[in-house]
Amino acid sequence: MSEILLDVQHVKKYFPIKQGVLLRTVGHVKAVDDVSFTLKSGETLGIVGESGCGKSTLGRMIMRVLEPTDGKILFNNQDITHLKGQELRKIRSQFQMVFQDPYSSLNPKMTVEQILAEPYYVNKIADWKEAKERVGPLLTRVGLKETDRSKSPSEFSGGQRQRIGIARALALNPSLVVADEAVSALDVSIQSQILNLMRDLKEELNLSYIFISHNLSVVKHISDRVGVMYLGNLVEIGSKRELYKKPLHPYTQALLSSAPEPKRNVKREKIVLKGEVPSPANPPSGCPFHTRCPYVMGICKEVRPILKEVSSEYSVACHLHH
Ligand code: SF4
Repeated sequence: MSEILLDVQHVKKYFPIKQGVLLRTVGHVKAVDDVSFTLKSGETLGIVGESGCGKSTLGRMIMRVLEPTDGKILFNNQDITHLKGQELRKIRSQFQMVFQDPYSSLNPKMTVEQILAEPYYVNKIADWKEAKERVGPLLTRVGLKETDRSKSPSEFSGGQRQRIGIARALALNPSLVVADEAVSALDVSIQSQILNLMRDLKEELNLSYIFISHNLSVVKHISDRVGVMYLGNLVEIGSKRELYKKPLHPYTQALLSSAPEPKRNVKREKIVLKGEVPSPANPPSGCPFHTRCPYVMGICKEVRPILKEVSSEYSVACHLHH
């Protein structure tokens, strides 16, 4: 686990706010605002944060579904930030996405065989007959039966549908899978089955994951490292063990304080944050967390703290630690 597979450098995504008859741009929603991190080959990086923090927008930029406003994304040392057309198609098979709601991402009019054979056929890897032959092993790999191939997505449970979503993502042998709230819609018992499946597949196929979720327990279960996002910013990133044991950023501390400890079923002393998350259309000056931070200082209102390494491979964006 040493080569850098993905290198995200100062990536931003600003969505214009248009107004008036002429639809003039009157401002921007800063959904992702200068985020940098790396992902090693074979590693699982969890990205956690509340709804609206920019984590899904970040995932979609990595998948090249959304164009970054600024910054660079390197995949296997290749700059993919603005790849288009044929060049993008060539590399796209190497990174795939698993969505929250497998049902809406699976065409209900197609059989599972058609859904899973399609990527091989569309990418000219196999003719239709050969593509269909590849479906059986794919189904068994994700814990479904070969005979399931003739069913439609509506005949499966939520967990089984997510297995189909994972099978489709794996069809083209990707090296990176971005999973966006991949188990959020499932019952807790089914969640752990899918997480265990993803963990086994990672070992078997040497995959790397970016695992995006609002659920700290789910992220803890599957990740090697964890990054915490707040208002479009990455505020803390490091090993799962360190981050869950001794979080440094006041926002991470507050998030973890309200998450139940799954093993002991106890809560840490709860830190209640004042106020609401500010709008990404009008973020605060200085530290984006300063309007809610219990430790706010004068400098926090003026100077935005940058993400700085405070120990080996552990970084935090907070003036308390710089
Ligand atoms: Fe709180 Fe200041 Fe740190 Fe921001 S920089 S998290 S406001 S102490």
